[in-house]
Amino acid sequence: MTVGNARTPSAPDGTILDAIIIGAGFAGLYMLHRLRQSGLRAHVLEAAPDVGGTWYWNRYPGARCDVESVAYCYSFSPEITAEWNWSERFATQPEILDYIRFAADRLDLRRDIRLNTRVTAAHYDEGANLWRVTTDQGRTVTARFCIAATGCLSASRLPDIPGIDRFKGQVIQSANWPGQPVDFKDKRVGIIGTGSTGIQIIPVVAAQAGHTFVFQRTPAYSVPARNALLSDHYRAAVKDHFPELTRQLRAGLIHGNSDLRIPGEEPLPPPLTAAQMTTEEQQAELERRWQRGGAWFMFTFADQVFDKHANEIAAEFIRTKIRQIVRDRTVAEKLCPTSYAIGAKRICVDTDYYATYNRPTVTLLDHGTDPIIEVTETGIRTGKGDVDLDIIIFATGFDAMTGALLSMDIRGRDGLSLKQKWESGPRTYLGLGMAGFPNLFTITGPGSPSVFSNVVISIEQHVEWIGDCLDHLRQRCLAGIEPTEAAEEEWVRHVGEVANATLIPTAKSWYVGANIPGKPNVFMIYVGGVGAYRDICDKVAADGYRGFALLPADTNREAVA
Ligand SMILES: Cc1cc2nc3c(=O)[nH]c(=O)nc-3n(C[C@H](O)[C@H](O)[C@H](O)COP(=O)(O)OP(=O)(O)OC[C@H]3O[C@@H](n4cnc5c(N)ncnc54)[C@H](O)[C@@H]3O)c2cc1C
Repeated sequence: MTVGNARTPSAPDGTILDAIIIGAGFAGLYMLHRLRQSGLRAHVLEAAPDVGGTWYWNRYPGARCDVESVAYCYSFSPEITAEWNWSERFATQPEILDYIRFAADRLDLRRDIRLNTRVTAAHYDEGANLWRVTTDQGRTVTARFCIAATGCLSASRLPDIPGIDRFKGQVIQSANWPGQPVDFKDKRVGIIGTGSTGIQIIPVVAAQAGHTFVFQRTPAYSVPARNALLSDHYRAAVKDHFPELTRQLRAGLIHGNSDLRIPGEEPLPPPLTAAQMTTEEQQAELERRWQRGGAWFMFTFADQVFDKHANEIAAEFIRTKIRQIVRDRTVAEKLCPTSYAIGAKRICVDTDYYATYNRPTVTLLDHGTDPIIEVTETGIRTGKGDVDLDIIIFATGFDAMTGALLSMDIRGRDGLSLKQKWESGPRTYLGLGMAGFPNLFTITGPGSPSVFSNVVISIEQHVEWIGDCLDHLRQRCLAGIEPTEAAEEEWVRHVGEVANATLIPTAKSWYVGANIPGKPNVFMIYVGGVGAYRDICDKVAADGYRGFALLPADTNREAVA
């Protein structure tokens, strides 16, 4: 296995590539493979010292996927599917990282990946119809197409709490976890953040630490994972049914009626609206999904994300569970989310999260009663007093969807910067491209289903759409492609309209950018379903890339090689 720059990309500097891909996570790796299949010369530039993306950076204890492993993986390669065996229902970070490394090696991708290389700028040179991409190594790489596979949850953030630099103990960010194991034994550990990441870390750290202090701003809705080892029989059966499983995943059936139909599992019935069920039936269905474990709980009722009343029934079910599990009444109430609808923030999937608060060595400090004032040399000062700590863990999330893109100086036609274009919030056509930025693609960009889906499946859809699009341009000797302003305007309107028919944009969440001070609060995800979205994208392509301007090859512009 090659780590670091032991092998360097094959094309020397100065060569004009067909495509530069930024990022070597699930998205960048498959994009490279897909472009090679079309005979295109592409290179990947990656800031990290290894491939893996999310799963390279998020090495915190307890890190796992919350979509089943057998579904949270590539579906395009029969060889990878045949040769890889998942060990658990929800794989750990080390296992997912091993899988991604395995895929990179199996597809011989590393020779075209430059690691330890952060892209700082990407400028469109209109005269030459080329993207000039600059890195922190002081190099400029040139290509016809630029593809941002920079991830929707890759720009981690520290909160603006005064004094963080003053702390004399160890500060750890969950999304940049140290390479060496951290010893929590007998330590006083503070964990800030109770989103998906915090909820995974807290039980693991609390089982080891001398005392764990959890600093909570807003409680999350969390459902049990019911993680388990996978048997050989189960794995073999999944492989036998993989084409059908893939068809269902790609059609978006994994959300909605959740009828994954993995052998051995009883398929869940298509959900009814809450009003179509008696109170007893509602509770029985909620209980069944709670016992089954996993995020499908979010879709117990067909109208759960649309109707406040249906949503409240599911929310109250979780609050009742919290009150049953957590023995201290006051702590239980603090853990009960009441200020937003279930699903309006990403639902969490946990192992023993609520039960962890029954440990005498765990203290919950809620923002309502113990707001964080500052970090001191010795710990954290809250409204009620000082908490002495040896280690502070920040599990404070990401500048989601736009953070990684906007941290690069991206400029399109006439020097228009992406920052300027997105001043009032992100605007894209299909989450795939932007008017004013020819030949620039974003994989799982804002305006696509991205984080409201099994992201690997959404990545595959984007990669294949982009690959087919470049084939289309090449076959017709076209110089490029760019969304029209009108199509982009209409898509932004449609994304908002679909979202506003649901309860999903109603919380102050990272879905709308509310976790980042000064970020325009705009809902950034297409929530109409991955099946519907795929149909729209396919139709756009079948209609000759409707909504895109296709740039003719002219004397100033070379056609795609
Ligand atoms: C802890 C955690 C758990 C998750 N669990 C799930 C799950 O269970 N199910 C699910 O569907 N999704 C999950 N996600 C979402 C996850 O991000 C996606 O599933 C998927 O891994 C994204 O792959 P990607 O290749 O698009 O981006 P990433 O994996 O984020 O990779 C992007 C890469 O781009 C690199 N990069 C960014 N900017 C630059 C730059 N300027 N120059 C060079 N390189 C750059 C980054 O270093 C990174 O390696 C999770 C996310 C996190 C953080």
